[in-house]
Amino acid sequence: TVQFDINQIRQQFPALALECNGQPLVYLDSAATTQKPTIVIETIRQYYSGHNANVHRGSHALTAAATTQFEQARETVQRFINARQNKEIIWTRGATEALNLIAQTYARQNLKPGDEILVSELEHHANIVPWQIVAEQTGAKVVKIPMKPDCTLDMDAFHQRLGDQTKIVAVAHVTNVTSTRNPIEEIIAAAHQYGAIAVIDGAQAVAHETVDVQALDADFYVFSGHKIFAPAGIGVLYGKFELLDAMPPWHGGGKMVEKVSFEGTTFSAVPGKFEAGTPNVAGSLALAAAIDWLTSLDRQTAEDHIHHLRQKALEGIKDIEDLRIIGLQPDASLFSFVVDGVHHQDIATLLDQQGIALRAGHHCAHPMLDALGLSGTLRVSLALYNTEQDVERFVAALHKACSLL
Ligand code: PMP
Repeated sequence: TVQFDINQIRQQFPALALECNGQPLVYLDSAATTQKPTIVIETIRQYYSGHNANVHRGSHALTAAATTQFEQARETVQRFINARQNKEIIWTRGATEALNLIAQTYARQNLKPGDEILVSELEHHANIVPWQIVAEQTGAKVVKIPMKPDCTLDMDAFHQRLGDQTKIVAVAHVTNVTSTRNPIEEIIAAAHQYGAIAVIDGAQAVAHETVDVQALDADFYVFSGHKIFAPAGIGVLYGKFELLDAMPPWHGGGKMVEKVSFEGTTFSAVPGKFEAGTPNVAGSLALAAAIDWLTSLDRQTAEDHIHHLRQKALEGIKDIEDLRIIGLQPDASLFSFVVDGVHHQDIATLLDQQGIALRAGHHCAHPMLDALGLSGTLRVSLALYNTEQDVERFVAALHKACSLL
């Protein structure tokens, strides 16, 4: 493992050298999407300039090489989350598409009227709406696992609401508004006791902790490449082989079929069954490059660095009048806050003018914001490439913004 060196890391991210409104950029929006290291950008360039071909088709040298790399990338993802088999890794466009895939295949096939899908109140819309759609289609019901005022899940309510009627439990590993780390080990084990499956949204987790889907015993685990230093448009659905194998396909088209005739079609084996059409080969290779890059670092040191910066930011803003941190969680990579009496968007605009990029709004989590009685928050989200200076600039800029409003 290479030692963590912040300057050496920053040099690998061209976008961190950008200017924003005439000031050096302070990028505090990595939970929305991370910046990309040169190795990832280079992987895309090299693929299109040196290897571009369709995969699993044709019989020339380029397509064979592209197919090999594409399948090696799948194995990189397999190792990254410790899946049992490479077939258990399905390429998707992102976490959103992966969740919709599960809803429209596994859930649509298995749910019947009266069945329940337990969904936490802290979820991103991507882990709510697909369940509502399939509930509508099947007569099943989406049931909320409420959160407590401290923005953690009400586990007593979870255990009460779990029952024989529960077929699916869908929760985030780590949430995107407050970085609440849900007790997914306990949730998965409890779901299994009732014969339900657990779907884990890992979009905010994989960049910050080592995930072992076998140790978790997750039935499905999804994430997006763009939140883990890879490009947008590539993501991962992990599913246990037995589940994937029994699921019907979703999108129809090339590559997901074994034999097509007008009398009927037979489908490819997993994973091909779920990968209709020409895939995002460059995206897969770039995601593998991002994973190789991330796992070559000392990840614990990187996380300690992030936690230290977050602590420093919290310390720096704590005396601002009417500022409230929303659902502060221990050892997280982000925090949300509001300043009572001031609209979050106004603060974001004044920060933007000072070169500070962060997220203001509802973070695609309307139910959670409603439960908090808020229309939005400001969210500071950190990555391993942020610096002490970034935090100092943010703290000074927020003090200035609040004094003006
Ligand atoms: N779940 C969580 C917790 C997220 O933070 C996000 C992205 N904000 C998503 C799901 C959706 O990811 P994507 O838009 O990349 O599909």
